[in-house]
Amino acid sequence: LPEYAFIGRSNVGKSSLINMLTNRKSLAKTSGKPGKTQLINHFLINKNWYLVDLPGYGYARVSKSTKKVFQKFITAYFSQREQLVTAFVLVDIRHEPQPIDLDFMQWLGENGIPFSIIFTKADKLKPKAIENHVEAYRNILLETWEDMPNYFVTSSSKEIGKDDVLNYIDELNENMQLSSN
Ligand code: GDP
Repeated sequence: LPEYAFIGRSNVGKSSLINMLTNRKSLAKTSGKPGKTQLINHFLINKNWYLVDLPGYGYARVSKSTKKVFQKFITAYFSQREQLVTAFVLVDIRHEPQPIDLDFMQWLGENGIPFSIIFTKADKLKPKAIENHVEAYRNILLETWEDMPNYFVTSSSKEIGKDDVLNYIDELNENMQLSSN
């Protein structure tokens, strides 16, 4: 079955987003504490695709050796990614583009891994500020990419962007079925 991977810095709102997408309050544990989602979890959605919950990167408060272990899991997953259709890189809409996220997107690109960006916590900013922050990303990304990657603006607390993400995944799944028939 096709897989869609979700990844981002710790505390970006990944667990909350996964809960929103799957309608289940307790499926992925949310916690303000970094380091909670430690291993790779697969969630079967609608019996036709897997949501892959990857460990966070860029923890401020874990040891170097823990970071290395996380990195190993992440690299191992992406190197064996036969079923992976697209990765969703989560970034907090409130922050300026961060080198760690940009580097990670760069790495995905260099390894030929398609990705979309999911901006999280959109409820925390006014629409104009959201626009400005997306624009800041666009400007930086267009220095190295031909096009702005596909992106979604979401809020798990206000249920924003849920259908956009799910419809996009359904569309990709349908396209793959068409092309394999
Ligand atoms: P993870 O570490 O990436 O899995 O992040 P969590 O989902 O555990 O969320 C980290 C913190 O951000 C928690 O305190 C959440 O309540 C908060 N949070 C997550 N998503 C949202 C959102 O859409 N809006 C707001 N306002 N807070 C959020």
